[in-house]
Amino acid sequence: MRLGVPKEIYAGERRVAATPESVKKLRGMGLDVVIERGAGTGSGYTDEAYEAAGATMADVQSVWGESDLVIKVRPPSHPEVAKINTGAMLVSLLQPERDEALPALLAARKVSAIALERIPRVTRAQKMDVLSSMANLAGYRAVLEAAHHYQGFFGPQVTAAGTMPPARVLVIGAGVAGLAAVAAARALGAEVRAFDTRKATKEQVESLGAAFLTVEVEEDGEGGGGYAKEMSPAFIAAEMALFRAQAAEVDVIVTTALVPGKKAPILVKEEAVVAMKRGSVVVDLAAEQGGNCELCVPGDIVERHGVTIVGVTDLASRMGASASRLFANNVVHLLAEIVDGAKLHVDLEDDVIRPALVTHAGEVLPRPPPKAVAPPARASTRPRVPPAPEAKPAQKDIRSPTRRAWGTTVGGMGVIVALFVAGRFAPSDLLQHSTVFILACFVGWQVIWSVTAALHTPLMSVTNAISGIIIIGGMLQVSSTLDAASVLGALAALFAAINIAGGFLVTERMLRMFRREPSTGASTAEKGHRR
Ligand code: NAD
Repeated sequence: MRLGVPKEIYAGERRVAATPESVKKLRGMGLDVVIERGAGTGSGYTDEAYEAAGATMADVQSVWGESDLVIKVRPPSHPEVAKINTGAMLVSLLQPERDEALPALLAARKVSAIALERIPRVTRAQKMDVLSSMANLAGYRAVLEAAHHYQGFFGPQVTAAGTMPPARVLVIGAGVAGLAAVAAARALGAEVRAFDTRKATKEQVESLGAAFLTVEVEEDGEGGGGYAKEMSPAFIAAEMALFRAQAAEVDVIVTTALVPGKKAPILVKEEAVVAMKRGSVVVDLAAEQGGNCELCVPGDIVERHGVTIVGVTDLASRMGASASRLFANNVVHLLAEIVDGAKLHVDLEDDVIRPALVTHAGEVLPRPPPKAVAPPARASTRPRVPPAPEAKPAQKDIRSPTRRAWGTTVGGMGVIVALFVAGRFAPSDLLQHSTVFILACFVGWQVIWSVTAALHTPLMSVTNAISGIIIIGGMLQVSSTLDAASVLGALAALFAAINIAGGFLVTERMLRMFRREPSTGASTAEKGHRR
């Protein structure tokens, strides 16, 4: 089966959907990879490097018209769709909401089109999440752009000629891009403060050494699946007042606030820009969706009231080599789910593939309903920069008090009934053992079910320790005679050993997510600051 990679034609786009490294992996899946000549030039990948990796170089007509599967970065233009092989599959960013005619054009050519931006943000799909990969790069690059336009040091300086305080950076929106910006600005030595409507981001911001700002209005922006919801006018007014006050203090503002499917909220009004010191910088990462800064000109860098406002929309593309590498890796992971023995297999029941599938078998597919919205949590109070962050205590909250009370009552009654029955009919030995057994079941059940999912890894260490005790107990019961105690003891030791081995395997898998990958320099968890 033939996979084609065209050169991106969008003005200024440097990225490419496959790198020589990813070509090797695609070839390993049994695909014949055909790359348009010069496709990797913007990212520094030569045609020779692709050929050495096993790809064939071809012209644009051949790449589009003779491939069973086409992968690319930007949504295809209408002339590009006209070139695609009928019945082929297309994997790309599609953004049909920006080009409403696109799905019908793709369906007319019977293309199965997968929109990479619609891959749901579930744990299984993290490795395919191009939005997170690109947002991470954009957040990092935003700080470099700010440093480039800012006429001072980011970090504090102590020199013979005098001392300089660190630059003060405000990051609005602490999603993937915002957190990357916080980390980059902190790494350069700046004093950073950040704001987000989602309460969950507070801990993430503080763990990067930045201060988390709050407003007095009580409202949490969690809209489900890690995404934000649109905030009430009262909340937006409160945040704008906060940013207006902050503008007078800070040297750099990086804005990243977005609500999926909506125009970016205006959060930095002209009066806030006027309040900034001359020479300050605003980098608006939301420029492509209209911008968070009222004076932002999408795609351009302008100076207003002595402040440089950077509204460029190609921040990830400016890091072409790294961006292409991460993008290509994400695509390889996605294709691993679709390519089955050099054949394409689209599973319409798959909860990662189906939401991303925009057209299939000549039809424009309806978008599946979004996941249930998480219940809102309470937000915090009063505009302020809190004191330096401190280590947070481990999360204690477990289940609702009503469920807990029910669990306790039912469990308690069970114990009493069991003891009563055992006490009447069974020998005293059995009564004693049954008491211990029933209490152990009850305590174990409470421990496992009451612990929040986030704490299951540390819980596994505890259960492993308990399993160790069970193994010793089981071994003590095993004797040379084949009686019930021996068999039960052996079974207990066996199940406890399985539990321990499984615990180690799962823990190892979790730890791997946080380990730095030599190839990317980032841990899986870092890539998207996942939940
Ligand atoms: P995004 O680019 O859509 O939004 C950026 C940020 O802007 C969000 O944090 C949002 O809360 C914030 N925002 C929206 N309106 C705002 C306002 N009025 N004022 C201030 N901030 C506002 O989101 P994103 O960065 O792509 O992702 C958001 C979150 O999704 C991540 O932080 C992460 O928790 C989650 N996520 C999960 C996975 C996963 O696989 N589970 C993958 C990626 C991201």
